[in-house]
Amino acid sequence: MSLPLQVGLVGWRGMVGSVLMQRMSTERDFDAIETTFFSTSAAGKAAPKIDGCTVFEPILKDGNNITALKAMDVIITCQGGDYTKAIYKPLRESGWKGHWIDASKILRMQDDSIIILDPINMPVIQKALAKGVTNWIGGNCTVSCMLMGVGALYKAGLVEWMQTSTYQAASGGGAPNMRELLTQYGALYGEVADLLADPASAILEIDRKVAAKQHAFTPAETENFRGIPLGGNLIPWIDADRGDGTSLEEWKGGAETNKIMGLGAMFGTPEIPIDSTCVRIGSMRCHAQSLTFKLTKDVPLADIELMIANDNEWVSFVPNEREKTEKNLTAMNVAGTMNIPVGRVRKLAMGPQYLGAFTIGDQLLWGAAEPLRRMLRILQES
Ligand code: NAP
Repeated sequence: MSLPLQVGLVGWRGMVGSVLMQRMSTERDFDAIETTFFSTSAAGKAAPKIDGCTVFEPILKDGNNITALKAMDVIITCQGGDYTKAIYKPLRESGWKGHWIDASKILRMQDDSIIILDPINMPVIQKALAKGVTNWIGGNCTVSCMLMGVGALYKAGLVEWMQTSTYQAASGGGAPNMRELLTQYGALYGEVADLLADPASAILEIDRKVAAKQHAFTPAETENFRGIPLGGNLIPWIDADRGDGTSLEEWKGGAETNKIMGLGAMFGTPEIPIDSTCVRIGSMRCHAQSLTFKLTKDVPLADIELMIANDNEWVSFVPNEREKTEKNLTAMNVAGTMNIPVGRVRKLAMGPQYLGAFTIGDQLLWGAAEPLRRMLRILQES
């Protein structure tokens, strides 16, 4: 492929897009490409100023303009699923043969798309490149973070099945969801600030006033989590209702993990059964999950620990001890870093083939932005 690539960036100011811009700037990805910024809401205005990025075109182009998009060798979009639904098909129908790198779920399960997570599935990516695939889709954030942590067990064929319960941050919903959560926390605090300042005040009175405020939030104050306040609360349902007792987020856990690992009908192999219960919690950033595995055989715990620890340069193994766990396996500790700690690893009471683990990752980094920028590098080097 001739260099430099013409790269169009769409959705760069949202939650995922902003983190992508930071990472591309840090890794000097802009040095070797000619960048054009697109917007669906501010075409014609000045392109953003990003450290290390000399823009090829100083004015924001219209993200809905197929002719402008067609001039790109590569389009990276973090704009969201509605954008992909509206633009991808007409763009391809116009004859565009470039590489489409996308953070949204819309194209993930298409046969002509690969879910990208190169530290885990580089062989799948390389095979697809050789076959001429041009759709590279970032995986579901929870799935990508989980595989960055415990992918070693999948690579070694040790997983008979896996069940996960997730703890997913507000930022998983996007920039407006984070703002909504913080605004709610502020309103809840405001409701009881005077009582908190008085050490003699009754805790049940504080609790009652907080609960009353949660119930009194208006539709405008709760619109980003479908009318349910997340501040001081949790919501055990994420994404669409599939009508069979599972949410779309839960379905992705199984479907995407298998596709990333090159398993399932598309690859002519059986799938590994994976099931999840996905829960939104009031943390700002990072998705955590509690994992239960049935292993294909009884493997000594020390061997499992070593396999996990040595799988990739970002995973860090946390010994299953209270202080190390409290210090290392928290959202606060991981937010904004590429670190993927895995801990609470132990054999479970059900038998020697049953394994428990807990992992957490910044879903905006490994769960979203990082695989996209790394795919751009892979294309440059191919
Ligand atoms: P987002 O923060 O809502 O941003 C998406 C786009 O919305 C922006 O690029 C911007 O586009 C527009 N926008 C509207 N109001 C905005 C505001 N107040 N602040 C910033 N941008 C605003 O969504 P996102 O979380 O980045 O998600 C983008 C895609 O990545 C989605 O398909 C999502 O499913 C996927 N994804 C998200 C995560 C995550 O953890 N959030 C993880 C993995 C994948 P214009 O500039 O064109 O107006």
